[in-house]
Amino acid sequence: MIFYSTTKTSAPVSLKKATLEGLAPDGGLYVPSTMPHFSREEIDLLQSGSFKNIAFAIAKKFAGDEIPLDALSRLVEECFTFETPLHQLDTDTYVEELFHGPTLAFKDYGARFLARLTGFFAALDRRMITVLVATSGDTGSAVAYGFHGIPDTRVILLYPSGKVSRLQEQQLTTAGDNVFALEVKGDFDDCQRLVKQAFVDDSLRQKLTLTSANSINISRLIPQSFYYAWASLQLADRHPGHLPLFSVPSGNYGNLTAGVMAKMMGFPIGHFIAASNANDSVTRYLEEGRFEPKQTVRTLTTAMDVGNPSNFSRLLHFYNGNFRSMGQDITGIAVSDEETVETIRSVYQQYHYIMDPHTAVGYRALEQYRRQHPGKASPGVVLSTAHPVKFDDAIMKAIDRAVPLPKAMETIMNKPKTATMIGNRYEELARFLSGLDR
Ligand SMILES: *Cc1c(COP(=O)(O)O)cnc(C)c1O
Repeated sequence: MIFYSTTKTSAPVSLKKATLEGLAPDGGLYVPSTMPHFSREEIDLLQSGSFKNIAFAIAKKFAGDEIPLDALSRLVEECFTFETPLHQLDTDTYVEELFHGPTLAFKDYGARFLARLTGFFAALDRRMITVLVATSGDTGSAVAYGFHGIPDTRVILLYPSGKVSRLQEQQLTTAGDNVFALEVKGDFDDCQRLVKQAFVDDSLRQKLTLTSANSINISRLIPQSFYYAWASLQLADRHPGHLPLFSVPSGNYGNLTAGVMAKMMGFPIGHFIAASNANDSVTRYLEEGRFEPKQTVRTLTTAMDVGNPSNFSRLLHFYNGNFRSMGQDITGIAVSDEETVETIRSVYQQYHYIMDPHTAVGYRALEQYRRQHPGKASPGVVLSTAHPVKFDDAIMKAIDRAVPLPKAMETIMNKPKTATMIGNRYEELARFLSGLDR
């Protein structure tokens, strides 16, 4: 499959190039030249398939002839070693739990698929690929555990010392083997600056093949379309004649963009709710047709604190820049911190189900949408983007209850931390990187 940049000024590229480059040289984001499409018959055949069957069918269309089918099938098999349950709350409301991967958040889907594609392409070229990431927590841990043990790749993570939670720090510093954590004496901006400097350091780049694995990579979005497709087919069975509504807690809008891709591919999806916190630039765009990114404001749902979402340009591209047609598929709803806490509490009281705050934003937005559109009988799916234990302060505040640590996480909490402390000057990062084998 061919990909081109949203700004359309640089040359079209293969899946391999789009994956290894991340961002196009013209600064745009890669999008498929034409969206793959599933016919009615193909979808009917997938209806009774497993998650992995559906994942493979979609991946095949994006990979084209770049990855042999047996290798692709193995890759999908290795990525999705955990469940994607659809937890039913009442007759027409579901929570799709995307937090059963190794780092307990949906970012595992994207990171694990990207890691294995990167490993496949690295082996093809017989070279070592070095992934360099600055992280304030969640993306870094998914990348660390995603790339862990993948041959021909290694990960260098930079995180700000003392500025991530203990659970996050354990996830960042315990993978070991081909994953190296650098604890930077500074803040997240220092980490980002150091990484940017490394990417423009020519002498370093002659020695190492660097890539960024960040959230704008198209190969992180492709696997996120799998769980929309999967859920839509499950629900088509249970609610014949009604297309499901997906409520998506959004920050950079990668997750929502992946949903739009699944719908455009032909999967039976009705509508999307873009659920945001006080960082509501996309919500306001959907209401007014004007995109005015704002300074990021801090909220309870930190993973959604993005003032200028990077995937917005992809969404615009998919709707030809037309806000009315985007509005036909997506409704934006913003939720306050107070409403979020209230929702965690009321859902717990009503269903004995503990939701993480990000998921609660999605649930609240779905409730609000239903109030504004009475009489529509669509099944609603809230994407649950994180396990509640990751945000147990907020849970404690809302329902005065501790969330038990899942088994996998307990193991990570008990592993010894391994990190190299560095200062915030570029020379220190450069010295570490030049000490790596080629
Ligand atoms: C990253 C993240 C989000 C936001 O996802 P986007 O794809 O950036 O919109 C929501 N919830 C959690 C828990 C996350 O980690």
